[in-house]
Amino acid sequence: MASAISIHPSLDNGIKPGASGNFAGGTLTCKCAQNPVKVKLSAQTAHNHACGCTKCWKPAGSPFSVVAVVSRDAVKVTDNADKLSIVDTNAAIQRHACKGCGVHMYGRIENQKHPFYGLDFVHTELSAESGWSAPAFAAFVSSAIEGGVHPSKMDAIRDRFRELGLEPYDCLSPPLMDAIATHVAKASGVLKD
Ligand SMILES: [Zn+2]
Ligand SMILES: [Zn+2]
Repeated sequence: MASAISIHPSLDNGIKPGASGNFAGGTLTCKCAQNPVKVKLSAQTAHNHACGCTKCWKPAGSPFSVVAVVSRDAVKVTDNADKLSIVDTNAAIQRHACKGCGVHMYGRIENQKHPFYGLDFVHTELSAESGWSAPAFAAFVSSAIEGGVHPSKMDAIRDRFRELGLEPYDCLSPPLMDAIATHVAKASGVLKD
């Protein structure tokens, strides 16, 4: 399954399936050798995907992130919370990053009117546990160019995503785009039920 095109270390050798039954979650650990930040996730993640946007945390040299969501009630910082700071307090998603190693431990939406309010964004590759929900699509693929990928590589990248079974989209997947539009239509009154 290895390819000349590198997408992300957790995808380049094929995708590991998620746990088929109940999965209790696990602990995310930052990359600091000493006093790492630890965040306990007490639930399975959902909507895991590769992301080409310039905001997500990515491992060194990787053009894409892998990011999922989990209920904010299931996210608890257990160790070294004092090392966390918010990357951009004006962003819709407030990414809490480790000041030591730069890894984003969780991204939280504080605007209660946001379509994804209640969900935190997490990178389950930071966990030693296996069984997290598997990536199912690729989002914001064209944005990888803004992150430094040469436009001439985009066809090969999209081919590679399809080979991995991850349909590449230049925004979010259709179900998530529909969910956002439904939220907006209900808020405006266009959609009654
Ligand atoms: Zn760290
Ligand atoms: Zn992203």
